[in-house]
Amino acid sequence: MEELIERAARDLVNSSYSIVLTGAGMSTESGIPDFRGPSGIWTKNPEAERRAYETYHKFLADPKEYWVERLGSPSLLGDLTTMAPNPGHSALAELEKQGILKTVITQNIDNLHQRAGSKDVLDYHGNAFKLRCKDCSTRYGLEEYDLKRLWEEGKLPPFCRHCGGVVKSDIVHFREPIPSDVAHQSLEEAWRCDLMLVCGTSAVVYPFAELPRIARQRSVDKAGQTYSAVMIIEVNAEPTPLTEAGISDYLIQGKTGEILPKIVGAVGRMKG
Ligand SMILES: [Zn+2]
Repeated sequence: MEELIERAARDLVNSSYSIVLTGAGMSTESGIPDFRGPSGIWTKNPEAERRAYETYHKFLADPKEYWVERLGSPSLLGDLTTMAPNPGHSALAELEKQGILKTVITQNIDNLHQRAGSKDVLDYHGNAFKLRCKDCSTRYGLEEYDLKRLWEEGKLPPFCRHCGGVVKSDIVHFREPIPSDVAHQSLEEAWRCDLMLVCGTSAVVYPFAELPRIARQRSVDKAGQTYSAVMIIEVNAEPTPLTEAGISDYLIQGKTGEILPKIVGAVGRMKG
């Protein structure tokens, strides 16, 4: 384990463009429930999952009803404002501050990377604290619309201040396409990086799961030999399909909140 931490630190220091993909495993350490784990939201409540599959269709068919239902029911994830980033989030923010990590691409919607200080974050599945226009994709902070008042005054759904389009939660619902700007930028990052950290995700949800697979396919030629262009390092509680298929170079097994700060510590010692 300590050897792998040293190895990861060295790989990060030697990289010229590192990015990180993160998933639910990072958030559960902050007390946010996951969806598909043993005590996950969908595992415990299949009916809620079934309804969740209809949310996007409901938005398209009747945005007013979508909003009335949203505002009238408690968040499945609990009150996210009471959850705090954990040492894993802070470690990634620190690596970005040092110029080593360029981008965080996250499946989590909880805004914890931003709250920990990460600046360059792509919310692949949206952000629970933002709204997004269906037509022009402009993002708004939740606080920019008084949703409760619009509800009380019967003025839902909210409309975009730029183009007049209907505004939805920024959260990407089941069956909703990944917003094209985020999908595009994430692909560019996967094409550009020479190191990809994959933290707290089993990378089975598509199209997010394509990103490490795309990176793995890239190669460089040096002196007549072909080498992989990317180092892929997993930090996860257990092996994943990426480990088993040899898509990652190695796995550091354990909690992201414990391992990532140790990697930052080792990076600090290396840079002196
Ligand atoms: Zn708009």
